Amino acid sequence: MSLTLHVDGVRWRRHLRAMVEREPGLVPVAKGNGYGFGLGKLARRAQWLGVDTLAVGTYAEIGEVSKRFDGSILVLTPWREFLRPGYDERLIHTVSRLSDLEMLVAGPHRPRVVLERATSMRRHGMSARELRKAGDLLAKIPGVVLEGVALHLPLAQVSHLGEVNALLTDVVASGLKTTTIYVSHLSATELKQLRASWPDFTFRPRVGTDLWLGARDALTVSATVLDVHPVERGDAYGYRGRHAPAAGTIVIVSGGTAHGVGLVAPTGGSTLRNRASSVVRGGLDAMGLVRSPYIIDGKSRLFAEPPHMQASMLFLPSGSRVPAVGDQVELAVRFTITSFDKIVVS
Ligand SMILES: *Cc1c(COP(=O)(O)O)cnc(C)c1O
Repeated sequence: MSLTLHVDGVRWRRHLRAMVEREPGLVPVAKGNGYGFGLGKLARRAQWLGVDTLAVGTYAEIGEVSKRFDGSILVLTPWREFLRPGYDERLIHTVSRLSDLEMLVAGPHRPRVVLERATSMRRHGMSARELRKAGDLLAKIPGVVLEGVALHLPLAQVSHLGEVNALLTDVVASGLKTTTIYVSHLSATELKQLRASWPDFTFRPRVGTDLWLGARDALTVSATVLDVHPVERGDAYGYRGRHAPAAGTIVIVSGGTAHGVGLVAPTGGSTLRNRASSVVRGGLDAMGLVRSPYIIDGKSRLFAEPPHMQASMLFLPSGSRVPAVGDQVELAVRFTITSFDKIVVS
């Protein structure tokens, strides 16, 4: 009675292998909920893939991957003194401020670092001027091992090439002794064009979603039907004593808010399509029922009421094929916010 992720192992592994063969410098990203798989599982896969570096999101995540993966570990969240990361020769720190670099070069160790150049994301990173000062500092005081420069780009609306070309000019001007550029969210075409324009540089894409979740048809999610109750129009049900809008069946399935089911990850909300879908949602709300991610008898079904912690109540109108207790039903999830009870790799 669980929420299960089924992985077609052959297809999934074939996709992972093909991605790494196409992009030999690829740095897999394992962070957060491990894209639904968990950090440990992704670390073991990275080991199996034979990549030399695995990226984690935060310092707190290192422990989950370091025993399962024996290469270098790149931490994507920039180094801050208050995070008190210890020294470990396998760690590569992201350094996004000149003041942090000054602290690191003055320390007793020779930590490995990637310097982050700010992009139009405006999240973290050094300005062109700071990058030049970093170049001057490292030329004088070799207190750190420079592994490369990082560029974290926004998700593509238009091509990133103009921006990346300008940023690479800053890298050249900084005099930093590295030709390795770690990039995020560039398309295969953009990478190809960059490699052609900047043949002296090595570009290393950091990839999570397209790697782990890229073979989407190798991944299916199922829930267990826990109970079914026929209702007549007007019958009361649920925590809130709602009344059935029509005759049908209340179906109780595994999966609730504790699994991330029914939670909507915030969207940009700026496109027409997003706005249209919230109008649809508003329309269903007005009837008292919202669309659920569960698919029964070939159709996505309505929540009979908001999902509970570990189970959800669905409303199935009469005329639909009613599943039996114990049956599995499919559902669509956002992998980055879902906790599965079980992962079955075939
Ligand atoms: C999370 C993250 C990535 C990977 O993002 P995906 O969209 O999952 O591929 C890459 N770079 C940075 C800096 C990140 O934080």
